[in-house]
Amino acid sequence: MIIKKFQGKTEEEAVNAAKKEMGENVVVMNVKFVKKKGLFSIFYKPICEATVALEEESERNLRKTPVNKPQTIADSNAAKAITAYKEQTKDTSFDFTVGESQGIEQKLENISTLLEKSLSKEEEEKEEEFNEDSQDKSVKFLKLIYNTLIDNEVAEKYANELIETIGQINNPKSSVDIWLSNIYQKMILKFGQPVTIPLGSKSPRVIFFIGPTGVGKTTTIAKLASLLAVNHKKKVALLTTDTYRIAAAEQLKTYANILEVPFKVVYTTEEMNESVKKYSDVDYILVDTAGHSHNNEDQKDSMKSFIDCIDEELEKDVYLVLSATTKYRDLLSIADAYSKITEYKLIFTKLDETTTLGNLFNLCMHTKSSMSYVTCGQNVPDDIEVFSPQTTVKQLLGGK
Ligand code: GDP
Repeated sequence: MIIKKFQGKTEEEAVNAAKKEMGENVVVMNVKFVKKKGLFSIFYKPICEATVALEEESERNLRKTPVNKPQTIADSNAAKAITAYKEQTKDTSFDFTVGESQGIEQKLENISTLLEKSLSKEEEEKEEEFNEDSQDKSVKFLKLIYNTLIDNEVAEKYANELIETIGQINNPKSSVDIWLSNIYQKMILKFGQPVTIPLGSKSPRVIFFIGPTGVGKTTTIAKLASLLAVNHKKKVALLTTDTYRIAAAEQLKTYANILEVPFKVVYTTEEMNESVKKYSDVDYILVDTAGHSHNNEDQKDSMKSFIDCIDEELEKDVYLVLSATTKYRDLLSIADAYSKITEYKLIFTKLDETTTLGNLFNLCMHTKSSMSYVTCGQNVPDDIEVFSPQTTVKQLLGGK
């Protein structure tokens, strides 16, 4: 993994500088505003400093085809931690103290400092004296992290993978700070950069929102339509192919009226093409779809035909909307069913109704799709934001 820092007047400027030098695949680890040092520092505005990382080709390949590396102390630490955890879950008597987990919380608050440390070669080399005690400390630390991930409902499979990877890449003599910083970086890289609706794209861009009934598709469309039309002064049109529920179409029509944007119910693929032609002067055509049972083949075919009928010349996106409150196993079968129809990016709704975000990580890993937005309340348009890997990973590791 290559980690570097870039500066700019804004976050966008700093990240663009990183992309220019390191390529589009860079992932932002942390962003902070720093004041220039020196006598005249008060005259300067703080500058934005982005710490970015890039997974090296060799690491990516390693992930794809696990090789049988010789067992190191770190490997055995990871394995021990997991075995110990599993044994301990039987009697649920963990030996993690409150003090230790609070320590992690504080460290995550100051993640910039941890990243600085892992950037510094000196710190890597400043190894603790290695003895039984420090080995015990590493095992305890891995157990604590594993336990926290499981508490946050990260699937056991992914929690195991993370602990194994961290065990393999870390020098067992490194400090706990370096281990924590490494697991934070690994998880952020796994989430990747969120992919959102591009603002300056070729128009019209047709954007489908798919997903089960009641997850918040219509509300999310209203939030995004409002952001695009009001904040970014873009021309938007709303369509719905949901002809099953009159209330759903009415709901979207109401939002269209409030935003003063065109709205149409579309019954057939011919009507879809006519509508897209009719609104060819708008920037974005947002399409609500029927949230039918993901096991109903006829309904799935109908949805696929709407998505596939869009002229190939046009820009097209599909967002799968999922609720963060849905059970893990149900989320897997929903995501798998929709994967058979189309590729998609992920939107998670109702983050305000759950305290555990493990499913965001699980689904991102399972589908290999990009994360895009999250919503955290019913208010249109305020309760939506671009997914932040940094905030989510901090929370998954036990931060606030
Ligand atoms: P659809 O059937 O997928 O189109 O879902 P709707 O947009 O009709 O939303 C279903 C319900 O979920 C409504 O009561 C919304 O207000 C609610 N809802 C949508 N997004 C959120 C959210 O982020 N948090 C909470 N708590 N409720 C939401």
